[in-house]
Amino acid sequence: MTSPDQLRLLAVHAHPDDESSKGAATMAKYVAEGARVLVATCTGGERGSVLNPAMDRPDVWERLPQIRVEEMARAREILGVEQEFLGFVDSGLPEGDPLPPLPDGCFALVPVEEAAAPLVELIRRFKPQVITTYDERGGYPHPDHIKTHEISVHAFDAAGDPDRYPELGDPWQPSKLYFHMSFTLPRTKALHEAILATGVESPYTEWLANWDPAHDISHRVTTRVPCAEYFPVRDAALIAHATQIDPEGRWFACPPETQQRVWPTEDYELARSLVDVPLPEDDLFTGIRTEVGVR
Ligand SMILES: [Zn+2]
Repeated sequence: MTSPDQLRLLAVHAHPDDESSKGAATMAKYVAEGARVLVATCTGGERGSVLNPAMDRPDVWERLPQIRVEEMARAREILGVEQEFLGFVDSGLPEGDPLPPLPDGCFALVPVEEAAAPLVELIRRFKPQVITTYDERGGYPHPDHIKTHEISVHAFDAAGDPDRYPELGDPWQPSKLYFHMSFTLPRTKALHEAILATGVESPYTEWLANWDPAHDISHRVTTRVPCAEYFPVRDAALIAHATQIDPEGRWFACPPETQQRVWPTEDYELARSLVDVPLPEDDLFTGIRTEVGVR
């Protein structure tokens, strides 16, 4: 049941683990403040690889889809969020030149109108005031991430329209739609310089050298949510996705204390808003709290 005097955030993600790498500290913060936070995971991550050398074992590969469901359940508990799978099949990340065709029946090949239906149903049932998703480039060019963006934008508009998907519940119009803007050039540079200042080699050197400034998205940031005290929660949730995250890898190259000092926010672009808000802002629920009577 949803209550009228409650803040509700819906985060739409492509695969299990994405919720822990994008906006996780924001979610943990709002949960701690009493909001309801629901993660919608579009696919089961069935075509993901095993990215942690310690987990690259035959017994893991054998039951990877089931393991990813278990990992998701642990991350969900750590973050304190609710979570639902939308039931689509991972498209995999096509590699090679030319790129191979996408596998039959995968999420990225489902037409938007059809692929958005379960999300419309979920929005009408959960009634979020705020939805977060990826930008039009998916944040990174995985076909499932781009499709996640497309269905989120589509469903944001359709869920409130009684003429669309009439069989999927009573209309509910969310008020704000955000795109994650976590991986910006200024943030990566700031972390890079902070790491170098401690006399340690930076894992971002090559990344930064290849970063075309024209592809930086930092000018789009409208909203910085201070959530540094929840970075350790985010990291614990990430580690719960043991097949996907190498604890020795780049995710953890910059100590949380350094991140808390150098870049204590998670950043977003307010892509749609039906409430008037002054920008920049530091709260995804700005303009909504007074409406629902929550401070
Ligand atoms: Zn993903």
